[in-house]
Amino acid sequence: MTATAVPFASRKPAAMFGETTMPPSDVSAFSGELSALKALSAALGRDRRRTQAAGGNTSLKHDGILWVKASGTWLSEAEDKDIFVPVRIAPLMEALRTGDPRAEKATDFVAAELSDSPLRPSIETSVHAAIPQAVVLHIHCVETIALAVRTDGEARIRERLQAAGLAERFAHVPYCRPGVPLSREIARVAGPTIDVIVLENHGLVVAGQSVAEAAERLESVVAALATPPRDTPGDAPADAQGGSGAEPDLAELSALAEGTPYRLPADATAHRIARDPAARRVALAGPLYPDHVIFLGEAVGHVEASREAVRAFVAGAGAGRASAPPLLLVDGLGVLVRQTVTASGEALVGCLADVSARIPEDAPLKPFTAAELYALTHWEAESYRQSLDRPPAGGAGGSGAPGSAP
Ligand SMILES: [Zn+2]
Repeated sequence: MTATAVPFASRKPAAMFGETTMPPSDVSAFSGELSALKALSAALGRDRRRTQAAGGNTSLKHDGILWVKASGTWLSEAEDKDIFVPVRIAPLMEALRTGDPRAEKATDFVAAELSDSPLRPSIETSVHAAIPQAVVLHIHCVETIALAVRTDGEARIRERLQAAGLAERFAHVPYCRPGVPLSREIARVAGPTIDVIVLENHGLVVAGQSVAEAAERLESVVAALATPPRDTPGDAPADAQGGSGAEPDLAELSALAEGTPYRLPADATAHRIARDPAARRVALAGPLYPDHVIFLGEAVGHVEASREAVRAFVAGAGAGRASAPPLLLVDGLGVLVRQTVTASGEALVGCLADVSARIPEDAPLKPFTAAELYALTHWEAESYRQSLDRPPAGGAGGSGAPGSAP
């Protein structure tokens, strides 16, 4: 039997993916899955309870290539922009195994002939490569984070997943700096029977053999881990988006911010962080997850609701300089953000509002240690991600460079 010549037109899509051996039916199945992943990624990125700003990343493996979200891009843009970067899995895994430092950025393993994107792969690319399933979804889901930042988080999460019949496929990974250290820990637990991984002080990873399977599993896990947000004392009940119906005196807050490096946040739900004592405790406990540190810094400010107190705080923190915390809680009244806070910073303020509203007042918390903070803030890959961050949100007096985080 002689080989049938494949018409050039049929071969072209395969050549686009760099694999001339790929049958056309396979190419079309892959294209369908990538489109489905883009749609799912955009939906996850648009829901602040699932992930925020440039946080979270998704991927699809096909024919030795990992198509993974680019660093600094937003999942919400997945259908509008080309945010997926192709990376060769085998050499990346080899680099991870042998301790080759190139595994960290993964830029040396980009299959450049498949894409002309100038973007770097996600800082969590090796996390995706270390998981064998075809589809991997990693999100900074507020339902997961609210449990994963507790010292008793693993037990509580296991209990919830057990009740939902999901515990057999679950693994818990103790906190590690994202990137290679986290990938190594994930590689230890990953396998074909593990497709729900909770990352302590960080977020959720769900895997599946198809986009539809992973999406369905993710919704089951999130439903199992969900905690209704607590209403803020004295305010209207929380709304369906997970935000609160806070009704702070914005005129008074605005007046307090006048003449300082601070302004009102874009999102009114943020005020409950300062108005609910249990939420305030969470905010002041110290940073609990990586993106808070990257986009809002290591410290949250806290002052009494008086003009004198705000002035004294600003003077003490070094008015106008980077040392004033990006987020300031005005006790019982609401929150202010630095004028330089970017859209990412604003999104992380919303995340803190959503997470803190789900943590009871007596929950034992596990904030980052000084060593964990140092490792996060002295990592080149995060500086790159900050450099891609957007200009200050809201257009209100952006008086400094974006990214007041360390
Ligand atoms: Zn992450």
